[in-house]
Amino acid sequence: MTTTHPRAERAARARQAAARLAADGIDGVVFGWVDNAGLTRVKSVPLAQLEHAAEYGVGAAPCFDVFLVDDSTTSSTFTEGPAGDLRLVPDLDRLTPLAAQPGWAWAPADRYAQDGTPHPGCQRRFARRTVDALARRGLTCRAGIEVEWIVADQSGAPATTGPAYGMHRFVDHSDYLRDVLRALTTQGLAVLQLHPEYAPGQFEVSVAAEGPVEAADTAMLVRHTVRAVSARHGLRSSFAPVFTEGAVGNGGHLHLSLRRDDGLDLAHGGPGRHGLHPEAEHFLAGVLAELPALLALGAPSAASYLRLVPAHWAGAYRCWGLENREAALRLITGSTAGQANAEIKCFDAAANPYLAVGAVLAAGLAGLDAGHPLPPEVPGDPGTAERLPTTLPEAIDAYEKSVLLREALGAHLFAAVLAVRRAEAELFALRTDAEIIEATRWRY
Ligand code: GLU
Ligand code: MG
Repeated sequence: MTTTHPRAERAARARQAAARLAADGIDGVVFGWVDNAGLTRVKSVPLAQLEHAAEYGVGAAPCFDVFLVDDSTTSSTFTEGPAGDLRLVPDLDRLTPLAAQPGWAWAPADRYAQDGTPHPGCQRRFARRTVDALARRGLTCRAGIEVEWIVADQSGAPATTGPAYGMHRFVDHSDYLRDVLRALTTQGLAVLQLHPEYAPGQFEVSVAAEGPVEAADTAMLVRHTVRAVSARHGLRSSFAPVFTEGAVGNGGHLHLSLRRDDGLDLAHGGPGRHGLHPEAEHFLAGVLAELPALLALGAPSAASYLRLVPAHWAGAYRCWGLENREAALRLITGSTAGQANAEIKCFDAAANPYLAVGAVLAAGLAGLDAGHPLPPEVPGDPGTAERLPTTLPEAIDAYEKSVLLREALGAHLFAAVLAVRRAEAELFALRTDAEIIEATRWRY
């Protein structure tokens, strides 16, 4: 049961869910969606309204499609002004009581027009379309998005400065980390790892791979949860691409693996490099070919380009390599069967995860259909390899020229994203790096 089911069915399902949630002491449900600027926006309803909301959705202005990171708005060919209405329809499959916000449950939302037709600017629906396109080729993708964040105290300073990956941080924030782990697990998420990262105050959590849309939902839920646990501990959390100037930033690495319907893992046991099957090589070649344009979706902020620099393990080079943490595409073979996957490292947490995952699948599929050859591997420091765009305007240029993304996103969504990127590029054009970081640090 997704939001694509008929209204009456959604309502019946919501009625049952509401009864269950009431028995669990839930008062209200918060609906989350991620806008084109990469910010998670929410609306909530009391439990008594869940049925109505599942049936008809709750109101949301169409101009949310052209909101910028600072809450100002721009306009696009299809979206302008304060008039009109869209409906946010919760996906009851992901309805989750929030462990760190007692009394609240959460669900991701799709967006519809008032007449019940899908909104062409809905990012979650776009991601779903690319999954369907993959399925038509007899392929299934599993995806996972790593979440990195900085924990800060109320003054805004990193709450811990112990060594990178260090025991100090883990011990000093023992209760906090336990509560993050407990909340995620209680909410049904399969946590794989939780650890201190490199930058001051930085931690990371990774969760098990799932379907691409579900992985994007999970990325939103993980951040929501981390933020809630932080608040309960009197801490602040930031998912911004860069928190401290010059320091390593927050990535939003996207892991992908492909399987054929007959169960064949396309990154394992094949005749190609490191066991890749031809389909996987073509798919990765398609992603590499489109990567500069994809950055406008996966590294969407002016701040993204302050993170995406060499020697930060951010994947600033347009190349691939086995276990190469400086390559934009890191191939991971894993230690047991079924673990092989490709990691897109150049993406960060300012990305709308639905746009990021959908666009990567579209690019990979195009590579597959065209039989693109995968270029030679870059094994070590990519020093002389081609750099990815080094500024937001460069990535926007590539995006604007991408026929592939224009077609995959559809005219409406493509134009809205372009308008937001251009307006943000303009917003930050005259600012220093420090000012860009300052303006984005607490927004994502
Ligand atoms: N924090 C790094 C980034 O900006 C990634 C570190 C890692 O390899 O996990 O993407
Ligand atoms: Mg990391």
